[in-house]
Amino acid sequence: MTDPFDLLDIPTVLTDEERDIQATVARFLDDRVRPNIAAWFAEGHFPRELARELGELGLLGMHLDGYGCAGVHATGYGLACLELEAADSGLRSFVSVQGSLSMFSIWRYGSPAQKEEWLPRLAAGNAIGCFGLTEPDFGSDPAGMRTRAVRDGADWVLNGTKTWITNGGIADVATVWAATEDGVRGFLVPRGTPGLSTHDIENKLSLRASVTSELHLSDVRLPESARLPAARGLSAPLSCLSEARFGILFGAVGAARDCLHAALSYADSRVQFGRPVAGFQLTQRKLADMAVSLNTAMLLALHLGRLKDRGDLRPEQVSVGKLNNVREALAIARECRTILGANGISLEYAPLRHANNLESVLTYEGTSEIHTLVIGQALTGLAAYR
Ligand code: FAD
Repeated sequence: MTDPFDLLDIPTVLTDEERDIQATVARFLDDRVRPNIAAWFAEGHFPRELARELGELGLLGMHLDGYGCAGVHATGYGLACLELEAADSGLRSFVSVQGSLSMFSIWRYGSPAQKEEWLPRLAAGNAIGCFGLTEPDFGSDPAGMRTRAVRDGADWVLNGTKTWITNGGIADVATVWAATEDGVRGFLVPRGTPGLSTHDIENKLSLRASVTSELHLSDVRLPESARLPAARGLSAPLSCLSEARFGILFGAVGAARDCLHAALSYADSRVQFGRPVAGFQLTQRKLADMAVSLNTAMLLALHLGRLKDRGDLRPEQVSVGKLNNVREALAIARECRTILGANGISLEYAPLRHANNLESVLTYEGTSEIHTLVIGQALTGLAAYR
């Protein structure tokens, strides 16, 4: 069986360092995650102890400099995300939220004291972070947020509800975005702050090996030193989301690759009408189409990675990558499921688990519709989403 990436000799366009990163992450996942992931998904469980192990591997905030972060270039970070999501989107979501949303918001917009306090612990996995932007009534349109931060003497008092917050229930620190008289501002809310409570969202059919929660803020009193001083306006949280989307556009390729591996292997061994189902033209058409689409998604991810490494990546280019790669990965996951027949609906095989996960990935960090309209705006100069 040929690796689908060998079709275009993809590994040969990677550097030695990039191949090493992939191999190291893949070994960790083979050892610690693959044997357990179906059970974690079934139980709706994210093993918190993995945070420290991911920290030891240097995967938390790995594209940031200083404060114990690995300082790896963007493409290397993307390839790590690819491997993580090949195991499960829940694991990649944990790493994305920790590194690109929680840590990046502090690294980019925090005070020196906030950086010293939180970044080394978050990088080591000794603390867990989350990022609260979405609210029950404001998802795609966060500008309407109802969470308010009001000055009271030297303090701030926060009230509101955030929902669908990855890591919310296990976070030691939440980056919470709230409206003030002067526009949107970010605040660091440590676990245990009076007035902060969390409630995990149960019965998810997707991203089950990931914690998703509501955050309730009821008269949460914070000192001025809890505000992210450099974050002014909605552009601050949106810049964090752009960072996280970059990891997603690589990650989705990993999920798709894992599905295609499963389908190729199954089609090779499953015999019907006296021959492997891989030998039927209709199966080969599916496999060929999926291999073309997977390799194209990988080349797109690598192209965007090289642009980011050069410091030239624009938000609408990230939208192209997220839109295409998640959409294609979801299509591949579903098609692979068909090749596995009835066995395809069992948790014993990865494709339907990946497909279910990718439903969330299609929606979070900007839905596919919103990314379509971002690209439309870049092409026409007209914003159709407002
Ligand atoms: P809505 O905005 O209500 O959209 C509903 C539908 O309408 C969608 O199809 C959408 O594309 C469409 N739509 C909306 N506006 C337009 C428009 N102008 N034009 C065309 N179509 C439109 N949020 C966080 O802040 N932090 C997190 O850590 C986080 N983690 C998440 C984890 C999971 C598992 C999930 C599922 C979500 C998470 N989210 C998180 C929330 C996520 O970012 C939102 O779900 C997303 O922004 C979409 O918002 P919504 O679900 O309210 O959908």
